[in-house]
Amino acid sequence: MYVGRFAPSPSGALHFGSLLAALASYVDAKHNAGLWRLRIDDIDPPREVAGASQGIIETLKAHGLHWDGEIIYQSQRYQMYQDTLAALKEVDLVYPCLCSRKDITKRCASTLYDGHCRARLIDSAAMQCAWRFKNSRTSVKWMDVVCGLQIYKRSKTTDFILQRKDQIWAYQLAVAVDDAQMGINNIVRGSDLLSESAKQILLIEALNLNSIVFAHIPVINNRAGQKLSKQNLARALNCETANENIYRALQVLGQKPDPRLKKAKVEDILHQAIIDWRLQNIPLSYATTID
Ligand code: GLU
Ligand code: ZN
Repeated sequence: MYVGRFAPSPSGALHFGSLLAALASYVDAKHNAGLWRLRIDDIDPPREVAGASQGIIETLKAHGLHWDGEIIYQSQRYQMYQDTLAALKEVDLVYPCLCSRKDITKRCASTLYDGHCRARLIDSAAMQCAWRFKNSRTSVKWMDVVCGLQIYKRSKTTDFILQRKDQIWAYQLAVAVDDAQMGINNIVRGSDLLSESAKQILLIEALNLNSIVFAHIPVINNRAGQKLSKQNLARALNCETANENIYRALQVLGQKPDPRLKKAKVEDILHQAIIDWRLQNIPLSYATTID
């Protein structure tokens, strides 16, 4: 059975770009008679905005995007991440790193990590260190349902971090552990996360987890050509116009909704969208921008 999900970070309100990811993952799951789960990626407390989780939940409901089962919160799963890191230590697939970001930029031409601490003897019990994944694959390849064949060289993924020096769990570890534990087998999300999928696939392999079908949809830009994001202060979705938001998002996703549905109830627009859904109609980039 298809199990998909939406996994927002509570670092701000949902905007039109988030709606594209939520809607595409929801409708794709329902079109395939699957489940659509919701996880709040509240793994980075300093970046969390008070009330954002609740706001996201209310916004999804107002847009008719109802999830299956309980909401999962990453903040309640630290023990699982700890156990996974321990399992990777056991098979020598991680190592401690003491490099600061400054050290890395000084040493390497780019901000990409050079594996410096692989060969260092570090007493991780005596000091706080970050933990890195020992990535020995020369490249990661997968067939993305929307973007086609993806090949990421080792130099792009490097020995990525699983736990930061300040003990915060890295998104890369949490997402791999959670998606596996939640039974997720299909992920539809923004193409800004393509390189993260490469890392997720490396962890899926290292941990012997079930494989996942990936579909990365384009990200939408604002008029200035920047990716619509919470960092760029993208406007929060207005729940009063939920039906028009959904209609517009379907159009952007190349789905050609029936114009007669424009002012219909969200339930009716979604009902028809699930029947008519064609993942292959999603364009490789959007012709439009959003303010
Ligand atoms: N929570 C992350 C974000 O909002 C990851 C989402 C995902 O894995 O789909 O960017
Ligand atoms: Zn290091």
